Amino acid sequence: MSDLLGQAAATRKAAEVARAASAGPAMTDGFGRRIEYLRISVTDKCNLRCVYCMPVEGLPWLRRDEILTYEEIAEIVRVLARMGLRRVRLTGGEPLVRRDLPALVELLAATPGIEDIALSTNAVLLADLAEPLRAAGVRRVNISLDSLRPERIDAIARRPGSHGRIMRGIEAAERAGFAPIKVNCVVMRGRNDDELADFARMTLTRPWHVRFIEVMPLAENLDVSAREFVSAFEVLERLRAIGELEPVAGPEGNGPATYFQFPGAAGTVGVITPMSHNYCERCNRMRLTANGQLRPCLFGDLQFDLRGPLRRGEPLEPVVRAALHVKPERHHLVQGSAAGSGGLLALSQIGG
Ligand code: SAM
Ligand code: SF4
Repeated sequence: MSDLLGQAAATRKAAEVARAASAGPAMTDGFGRRIEYLRISVTDKCNLRCVYCMPVEGLPWLRRDEILTYEEIAEIVRVLARMGLRRVRLTGGEPLVRRDLPALVELLAATPGIEDIALSTNAVLLADLAEPLRAAGVRRVNISLDSLRPERIDAIARRPGSHGRIMRGIEAAERAGFAPIKVNCVVMRGRNDDELADFARMTLTRPWHVRFIEVMPLAENLDVSAREFVSAFEVLERLRAIGELEPVAGPEGNGPATYFQFPGAAGTVGVITPMSHNYCERCNRMRLTANGQLRPCLFGDLQFDLRGPLRRGEPLEPVVRAALHVKPERHHLVQGSAAGSGGLLALSQIGG
């Protein structure tokens, strides 16, 4: 199966070279990687409690005064955009639980240099917000959907009644014209891995890009991540039983997923392989937490406070340069252990 991932890497590389050639100057880290993408967590709170993410009782939440205001987020993005940032993604926790998110999108859309604004959401609140977000400038959405069966969605999300709201949210996203729509499915053995074929068949007729994600170990999910882990190799093996898989460049976005397509399909299937196949050599991103910490890597304990300097009126660029300089070559997640996650309890604290 690694041959399939290898072919896919070559296809992706060609597409990336073409994209990079058409872009302007960008920030570069100590390993020569071009950093042009920032994932912004706008809140650590969430209206779901996905079994692989957040504990049922929630987490110790940030205080309101610790959280960046929209104006503060926009100022950080303005500084980064002058340095070469081109794309941002709003995430959480669940970004749609933060009030008046379209107002932030408008500020970001007006920032010179920012070419693309995307959103990661569980879609529970998307039915009412899809149109305003699109009008404000969000172009693309990634939607978490771990099952196609109503009772399972509710069981995984541990919030009864989520299924209907999520489906209405996805329909609203399609109506609003977001493109492409990427669907994220965290694969768990015995919980949803019998639905791989159902998800994959959906891409035959719908222009969705379904990405199967390997569950990553963090302090709050060690049970699920160790016992229910399904590797991307196994996912691809099982998908190949449905039909021939052709490696493709995948939709716009240039992220960690590796994409394939069934012959004649409207959409694609992808795998995201944080555990079994490291993709860090093509990392293009940094992350901003809701309380203003710039994290050069999803994992590890490096973070640089931007909120303090910002509130004191000090320049941010030296701090950003320092973060770029020490951005690690790769993450060091360890199966069955929280050792590699750098003190994060759950991905909700940083937004994935
Ligand atoms: N609430 C939004 C959502 O669910 O899309 C945005 C934040 S969520 C942390 C971002 C992505 O991380 C989701 O696709 C979610 O499924 C994924 N995720 C969360 N915890 C994970 C874990 N331990 N391993 C792999 N993916 C995880
Ligand atoms: Fe919330 Fe997203 Fe985490 Fe699920 S994965 S609990 S929706 S932050």
